[in-house]
Amino acid sequence: MAMMTDNLFLKIINKQIPAKIVYEDDLCLAFHDIGPKAPVHVLIIPKKEIPTHADIAEDDKLLLGHLHVVAAKLATQLGLSDGYRLVINCNERAGQTVPHLHMHLLGGRDMTWPPG
Ligand code: ADP
Repeated sequence: MAMMTDNLFLKIINKQIPAKIVYEDDLCLAFHDIGPKAPVHVLIIPKKEIPTHADIAEDDKLLLGHLHVVAAKLATQLGLSDGYRLVINCNERAGQTVPHLHMHLLGGRDMTWPPG
């Protein structure tokens, strides 16, 4: 599917459309994916507008580290201590459809490798 022109996740950050939020702070938001690909499927996004992983800059180092700390804490809270997967799809060929950087936190089932 092609990348959306609209930044849907900005609307979720601004509470213009609803989401099942599991964590929020000044820098990021985490919410359940609307089309879960695993029993647990949460998206962790920066509040800063970064369209894709390829747009990450030097200034974003702390922010990206923060997203990982939040992901690790959420994985524990959501009962994924036996294993989970973090995925960032970058641009259309990798399957990114929403033009706002997001980390998928997936767990609750066995994962296969390599991914499709
Ligand atoms: P893909 O759409 O191919 O999974 P992405 O990596 O861009 O590619 O992921 C976007 C994710 O956002 C999808 O998993 C999709 O189910 C999810 N999503 C789309 N709209 C919403 C929404 N309104 N609330 C929560 N999750 C959403």
